[in-house]
Amino acid sequence: MNKTILKKYANLLIKSGLNVQPKQDVLIFANVEIYPFVEMLVKEAYKAKANYVRVIWADDEIYKAKINNAPLSVLKQFTGIDKAEMDYRIEKYPCMLHILSSSPDASKGIKQDKEHAMIVERNKFIKPYRDILDNKYQWCIAGYPSKAWGKKIYPELSANRAQEKLLEDILKVSRMGEDPNKNWEEHNKNLKSKCETLNNLHLKELHYTSSNGTDLRVGLIPEANWLGGAEETVDKKIMFNPNIPSEEVFTSPKKGLAEGIVYSSKPLSYNGQIIDKFYIRFKDGKAVEYDAEVNKDLLRDLLNIDEGASYLGECALIAHDSPINNTGILFLNTLYDENASCHLAVGRGFTNTIKDYEKYSKEELHNFGINDSSSHVDFMIGTKDMKIVGKTIGDKEVVIFENGNWAI
Ligand code: ZN
Repeated sequence: MNKTILKKYANLLIKSGLNVQPKQDVLIFANVEIYPFVEMLVKEAYKAKANYVRVIWADDEIYKAKINNAPLSVLKQFTGIDKAEMDYRIEKYPCMLHILSSSPDASKGIKQDKEHAMIVERNKFIKPYRDILDNKYQWCIAGYPSKAWGKKIYPELSANRAQEKLLEDILKVSRMGEDPNKNWEEHNKNLKSKCETLNNLHLKELHYTSSNGTDLRVGLIPEANWLGGAEETVDKKIMFNPNIPSEEVFTSPKKGLAEGIVYSSKPLSYNGQIIDKFYIRFKDGKAVEYDAEVNKDLLRDLLNIDEGASYLGECALIAHDSPINNTGILFLNTLYDENASCHLAVGRGFTNTIKDYEKYSKEELHNFGINDSSSHVDFMIGTKDMKIVGKTIGDKEVVIFENGNWAI
């Protein structure tokens, strides 16, 4: 891959993604396999006058070895080092860049129950920190494939070529072109205008139907906004792009108001494994019944991380005729696949969807109906014949999506 293009990508992630400000600290979470690109990111961050850049390295095999071999009692511990790390984050509010590289089935063979028990226990310690950090720091999630991920998508190619081909796809859907930062400025304008149209409708419900059997009504919060593209931090009002790419406009639904059944339309890669061909039935907002042809146990785990994990936290709308979907590639990674299809999320809702959210306490925000959980998992439900009818606070029905695409 051409170095100039990669430097441009690194610049996009530091500038439009994180929007690093002088004297800010930066944390980069990355896989050891992609270190040459991480070097570029670090240099770009210092070029943006970052104060201190730290890389937190990961490796799928080391992670798996740890889960499968270390005693659960040890894995569950929230040690002094963990505490120091979280204390640092709530003191400095460093920008956080997450680079996704893992193969969708990197955790095949992992002791799933043990991992689940570890996550549940550790989330109890981490959640109070996450609540403090919420909306106060710049973050961005983007991708740079490992060889294994490339091979998963292009098994017919050599590992090197497969990685490069998938990287080319990723750069394409990340709106690179001549001037990536300018492309993102333009793209954000378009997303904001879509949000405005939706906000002016004052919707209180969405009714999703599709020929695959989906028939789901989801209640919305009249005080909540539709958001999309760039966001800003609550105190310092620094703009950043949380996801590169991002094609969605989304809102947080009202906890307790979801009735009916919804079928997945793409495989879901979760914790390094794939859950596929599943449905979830909701009653009074809660997932009460579910099944999956692939990995039902993992679906059960993700719905049971905590109380809020079985309630909805996000409704996101993306046209079926979208740039990512039109590549025809199934990336087997939620960052890309969720931006190719309408999706929902179970778990934590977004408090910043509430108008003037900074004026309310956490508790008040949840009283509006924003779901709370330590987890947030998107799953794709959009199809080419999906219809979505909205109901306004004045009980008027408006067709929002017809045949998988925007009708407004
Ligand atoms: Zn989303």
